[in-house]
Amino acid sequence: MYKRKDDIKPFESKVWLASPTMHGDEMKFMQEAYETNWMSTVGENINEVERLAAKQSEVNYAVGLSCCTAALHLSIRLAGEKLYGTPPVGHGAVEGKRVFCSDMTFAATINPVLYEGGIPVFIDTERETWNMDPVALEKAFEQYPDVKLVVAAHLYGVPAKLDEIVEICHRHGALFIEDAAESMGATYKGRQTGSFGDYATISYNGNKIITGSSGGCLLTNDKEAASKARKWSTQARENASWYQHTEVGYNYRMSNVIAGVVRGQYPYLYEHIARKKAIWERYKDGFKDLPLQMNPYEEDKAKPNYWLSAIIIDKKAMCKQVRGESKATYEPEPGKSCPTEILEAIASINAEARPIWKPMHMQPMYRMHEFIDREGNGKRRNNDHISIGADIFQRGLCLPSDNKMTPEEQDKIINVVRRCFG
Ligand SMILES: *Cc1c(COP(=O)(O)O)cnc(C)c1O
Repeated sequence: MYKRKDDIKPFESKVWLASPTMHGDEMKFMQEAYETNWMSTVGENINEVERLAAKQSEVNYAVGLSCCTAALHLSIRLAGEKLYGTPPVGHGAVEGKRVFCSDMTFAATINPVLYEGGIPVFIDTERETWNMDPVALEKAFEQYPDVKLVVAAHLYGVPAKLDEIVEICHRHGALFIEDAAESMGATYKGRQTGSFGDYATISYNGNKIITGSSGGCLLTNDKEAASKARKWSTQARENASWYQHTEVGYNYRMSNVIAGVVRGQYPYLYEHIARKKAIWERYKDGFKDLPLQMNPYEEDKAKPNYWLSAIIIDKKAMCKQVRGESKATYEPEPGKSCPTEILEAIASINAEARPIWKPMHMQPMYRMHEFIDREGNGKRRNNDHISIGADIFQRGLCLPSDNKMTPEEQDKIINVVRRCFG
């Protein structure tokens, strides 16, 4: 267990990984909803969020929903019905079908594939952006040419290798669902993430770059898809004078009160990105003589939104670290460190850091699922430490990246990390 050095005092109020940053307008729009009694899932705030989201993300249509996970679910269903037709009542839209998915991501990227009965096949991660590896994706299509759906996320606000992924999807006639939950405002070759997929999703969850406390949108250029999603999100009620139903629906619509918060946040998106970028750059500068690297991006193509600053420790500077199913141990060593030590060191001064998303192919629930890496290894793998995703998980971590963190607070965090290598 890490022992805090006494000369570095803990922060009086906690420095968070990423917490909501409010500006005042949010209250005004919530208040307006209250005073006009549009306190349900209809109203001016929702209309305005849908308009702002479509404009910001450079797509024709945005559908306001209760969260990004709901948007992913509706995207999977839209894709499934387009590819395979409407399933019988009670069956999933991608039932029994393989779906190629990002491996190193939040579980929310994958869960909706299961809601619709799909079988995720996990595609390994590449080192240049920490997202789905197009080389591994190509290998996956060589093994399973019949697969028609790809779901990929942009981790920590860094755009994936979109040219390659989109080209591979087109060549194999597959639809592409883009999980842009973490990357709102990030661009790839000048275009917004969220505008590349057949369907894409964004999140207003409390720790994202802008927030409504919760909420999300489904993005698409397909008008019919947008209106289907909107209908499904409100219990799939038909256009009749009574409650008429021909298909299954959900209660997924965004609240007009929450939409007020989101509406108030949109004008501050680029201010948030500028602050996050300054944080990332201050870490980069503060660590320049340490044996570690910042989370990378393709400098010639991508502009990240820098949602979270993350680091990866050089192999030669890793002390021994072993992670079980819920606990980790390590052996401190002069000149070396590991994510567990740094996580504990940061926690000891009342600040919040986090491990990298644990790859899906290493999760107990997916141990029997297929995982494909750039060597085309399509065998079922157990909890291994060979894949690129497993390696980034082993050596990487996310640092406090809160918008409201002061340079002085960040310097203290930099010092604490520095000492771990002392
Ligand atoms: C946050 C997040 C989601 C889920 O967003 P919610 O709005 O909380 O449902 C999905 N995918 C990724 C990659 C995320 O980070």
